[in-house]
Amino acid sequence: MFTNNIKKDFPLFKAQSGEKPFVFLDNAAASQMPQAVINAVTEFYAAYKANVHSGIYAIGTRAVEAYEGARKKVADFLGASEDEIIFTSGTTGSLNMVARMLEPEISAGDEIVVSAMEHHSNFIPWQELAKRKNAIFTVLPLEADGTLSLQTVRETVGPRTKIIAITHVSHVTGSVNDVREICAAAKKAGAYSVVDAAQSAPHMSINVREIDCDFLAFSGQKMLGPTGIGVLYGKKEHLARLDPVVFGGGMIRDVSMDKSTWADPPQKFEAGTPHIAGAIGLGCAISYIEQIGIGEIEKHERALAAKARHALSEIPGVRLYVPRNEKELAGIVSFTLEGTHPHDVAEVLSRENIAVRAGHHCALPLMKHFGISGTVRASFYLYNTEDDVRRLAESVLKAANIFKT
Ligand code: PMP
Repeated sequence: MFTNNIKKDFPLFKAQSGEKPFVFLDNAAASQMPQAVINAVTEFYAAYKANVHSGIYAIGTRAVEAYEGARKKVADFLGASEDEIIFTSGTTGSLNMVARMLEPEISAGDEIVVSAMEHHSNFIPWQELAKRKNAIFTVLPLEADGTLSLQTVRETVGPRTKIIAITHVSHVTGSVNDVREICAAAKKAGAYSVVDAAQSAPHMSINVREIDCDFLAFSGQKMLGPTGIGVLYGKKEHLARLDPVVFGGGMIRDVSMDKSTWADPPQKFEAGTPHIAGAIGLGCAISYIEQIGIGEIEKHERALAAKARHALSEIPGVRLYVPRNEKELAGIVSFTLEGTHPHDVAEVLSRENIAVRAGHHCALPLMKHFGISGTVRASFYLYNTEDDVRRLAESVLKAANIFKT
């Protein structure tokens, strides 16, 4: 199933193909879009563009149906209900929003906990919240291999902890956190749990009821959808109680001179005109993923990443940043080449028509933990093939030979 046939669904591969076929291995930053998703977005703009707040005419109704249909798709995909799904601009938008939503719940001396493996998007909003409220900002230390131990979480989270915000999958090492246990520890302590699912929602089956998290965030553009669309899941009881943080049209029940009241969730949290085309595209992306099967996708990319780790480990000078437990690894591989800046490796690969990410990956606390300035990262998705792995390994070997001193 996972052959070049899947690549054929993605027009970018044809558009970018040069002397050598294009190999895209920066899926942790942005995934490509199948023609079906591009068509769904185009159709909205070409055939029924209307505001979801305008309504009483045919294309307005169609736009609302498509937008709310996308919300239902997302809800079903996560095992949530539709009124628990807020459309945002992306993971960053979702995490900043939930940090603002929880602000009134935080008092001086309360504790907010994150880990040292977080993307800056799940680090800085909490650090800033702690600063605004004179709260304690605790960063969970990592093991030498870059993993987070459950014991560390359980020993840290206590009665003063009010929020714990943790990534499901590290976007640098591919390490998978046991978010179910982490959320259970938060619940036991009476703290809110927030899961950054930017690197898990596109690649593995997620059920928010099973994880039992209070909030969960991800980006559409990392799961075959358009840019600028994301999701914040929030438990119904929290969304009913918490106040909105963005105000304007589409989110009110009543407005008078002295006060305003809010619509029910999720509209309460979606002020202004949303990214309607983005939501429709995301809904279509989920349908595409479901047709193939998220479990199959996960197996495929994990197998490719394992092959890549093996091939890279045989190249002199390559150092892999691999958590010890192979079973808890997603389809992401980070490495450095001795004596060579990651950007120089990426440059050589780019000349071979291979796109990887090089740098600190918006994870400076993790880079500091490893004592490095950056890595080269190859991240896999459903359209990658064994041939892509072979091309990657050959080109890294080429780089190793070029930079050999
Ligand atoms: N969290 C993680 C784990 C990520 O990998 C990323 C994107 N690299 C983000 C948050 C931010 O996502 P976005 O830029 O789509 O808001």
